[in-house]
Amino acid sequence: MLIKSNIPNMIKLLNPDDGDRLKDYIEKAFERYKYFIGYPVAQDFDYSELYPLFKLPLNNVGDPFIESTYDLNSRSIEFEVLHFFAKLFKAPENNWWGYITNGGSEGNLYGLYVARELYPAGIVYYSEATHYSIQKNIHLLNLRSIIIRSDENGEIDYNDLRQIMQMHREQPVIMLANIGTTMTEAKDDISKIKAIFRELAIKNHYIHCDAALAGTYSALLNLQPGFDFQYGADSIAISGHKFIGSPIPCGLVLVKKNYKDRIGEVIPYIGTLDTTISGSRNDHSPVFMWYAIKKWGLKGMRLRALDCLELAVFTVDKFKTAGINAWRNPSAITVVFPEPSLVLRQKWQIATENGFSHIICMPGVSKALISQFIEELKEENT
Ligand SMILES: *Cc1c(COP(=O)(O)O)cnc(C)c1O
Repeated sequence: MLIKSNIPNMIKLLNPDDGDRLKDYIEKAFERYKYFIGYPVAQDFDYSELYPLFKLPLNNVGDPFIESTYDLNSRSIEFEVLHFFAKLFKAPENNWWGYITNGGSEGNLYGLYVARELYPAGIVYYSEATHYSIQKNIHLLNLRSIIIRSDENGEIDYNDLRQIMQMHREQPVIMLANIGTTMTEAKDDISKIKAIFRELAIKNHYIHCDAALAGTYSALLNLQPGFDFQYGADSIAISGHKFIGSPIPCGLVLVKKNYKDRIGEVIPYIGTLDTTISGSRNDHSPVFMWYAIKKWGLKGMRLRALDCLELAVFTVDKFKTAGINAWRNPSAITVVFPEPSLVLRQKWQIATENGFSHIICMPGVSKALISQFIEELKEENT
């Protein structure tokens, strides 16, 4: 692999033992990177032009919209990234706010936090296919919640949702909608959910979209069902290290500004507002995201997304030809198949739940690699 040339021959500034320890780690990471098709992260990025930034103690502490006395920051770049996503997710003009998080989980926590400040007595509804971060976040926020059934593809069961909500009509609704579940990339349809609100005359409601996995490419390609602010989202969280790609986990959360204005105190020490979950925040990840957006442009990112979809079609075909029963949800880049042996799962870093595994056709995953995996699977099955 091309990237192999990046491995240093020698670590010069450590003693030889420590140098070897570090070199071993770097080599192992590159080795394991060769067989990496089971987690939803892009692999086609190259941020080497940003290396000089690793020499500075950069920090985006506090609110990205308000300058801080800590001036070694990438706030203005962070703002451009936020602006790009506000447009992509059709956030209401002049009424949005957000920041670059450490990942989708933090964005989910923030969305639920804002919802709780609005509706302290609200009940969170989420499907059983929901990411584990939600349960933890609900626990942290001490919110009430009810788990709703999901169908076998992973989408929320709207009948179950309607019945359960009907029993709690007097309570505000905090709806957690999945825009791509972790295992099968199923999408909950917020238009259908809003229809239930209308049917039950629920006036106090909040919809947070966990779009960590599929939000970016779904919006880029206008995939259905839509989930953006115009469709009725009140907040949206995505992961940055998934479709966009980053060597450091990151994400982004957007909320309607009038909701968020209930949060955050002026902190004289940092000379800005404390509106974010973490205090000190990563300066580099906004620059990674910005660089990716600029390098590919809207058109380039759409093409990348289309490549992923094409790879997913290829993958399902390839499985079927091999006699393996694989499937994917409509417009999903996650391909689900019966769990392979532990040996293959470990080699290829394949996640498994309830007897099913998946491959995620993220940018940078090659047809050759998928073909090799399916060959190995075929051999195992015969
Ligand atoms: C990845 C993911 C998350 C969590 O995002 P992190 O960036 O890992 O914190 C949440 N929900 C879904 C559906 C995800 O795929």
